[in-house]
Amino acid sequence: MNYQLESVSCGLCGSSEHHIVLRRAKELYNGLDAHFDVVKCVTCGFVFTNPRPTAESLGCFYPDSARYYQPNKKRILDETGFKPGWRGRLRQSLLANYFGYELPAFPRLCDALVWRLLRSKLYTSHLPRWVPGGRLLDVGCAWGGYLWRMQQLGWEVHGVELNARAAAFAQQELGLTSVRAGSINNLDYPEDFFDVVHLSMVLEHVPDPLKTLSKLGRLLKDNGQLILSVPDIEGIEARLFRERSYTLQVPQHLSHFSPATIRACLESAGFVVERIVHQRTKSDFIKSAGYLDHSWLKRLLLCVPVRRLCLGPLVSLLAMMGRTSRMSVYAVKRTAMR
Ligand SMILES: [Zn+2]
Repeated sequence: MNYQLESVSCGLCGSSEHHIVLRRAKELYNGLDAHFDVVKCVTCGFVFTNPRPTAESLGCFYPDSARYYQPNKKRILDETGFKPGWRGRLRQSLLANYFGYELPAFPRLCDALVWRLLRSKLYTSHLPRWVPGGRLLDVGCAWGGYLWRMQQLGWEVHGVELNARAAAFAQQELGLTSVRAGSINNLDYPEDFFDVVHLSMVLEHVPDPLKTLSKLGRLLKDNGQLILSVPDIEGIEARLFRERSYTLQVPQHLSHFSPATIRACLESAGFVVERIVHQRTKSDFIKSAGYLDHSWLKRLLLCVPVRRLCLGPLVSLLAMMGRTSRMSVYAVKRTAMR
């Protein structure tokens, strides 16, 4: 493999003082022969990959075969529209009562308990609050699953995707004609144009997250919603598996956020954080276990009864405690930002 590296200072505070927290972590996602250090800023605690591939070399680590570019039509069909019967009606009611959608609803008292039980699931599916006639932009929209679902809910949807094959799938197979193939650096939408901007597992891949967030802030209207997800480097999976953690994913992940550093990053870019909700991510543990050579932990986590009976409740508990390795963040653009 032929790629160039660059050393960088902290992307959050600019300090050049850091110490190594993970040494020579291997590229495991595509199984490439490359190793990277992960460092922590002494001043602000931000964790990042350093040295890292230069902007010109990053493409080497994103082959077309990467899993996030593979469309999953079954998932689209499972998660779109409303299921018939009481489950569909209940979901409609929750969207109406708690997210403002113009859908038939039960009186709030009737679904208050269900809301308490299901709200983290709704937040981690990245539902925006309804805005009549609202425009939504998905940055790094992959093959367009989220955009398709949001279009079903009534949003005018737009998307940008770096991988041309994934963007073509969204345009041709899902009919999302407003999806563009291109880089996050070439977003030529008007300012104050969108009501919602969404990034699912994207911000950790961009070389300058602060600059990207500031740019997205300009595309948003005042009080516009920013909904994103990033891995949490302080989650149990990341701590337990360290350089073998599935969510570490070096060198594609250039930044490794924690709840504190994603909050600081958003605040410096002019956003107010409304909530951080941790996702129930059983598969992160299973995939991390798959990266281990041979150990009791691998045998335990790959054992089907353990996965079925224990891992699900464990992950639900960890998510409630904010200790899984993926977080969904809801923020709004501060009105006096410019
Ligand atoms: Zn720093």
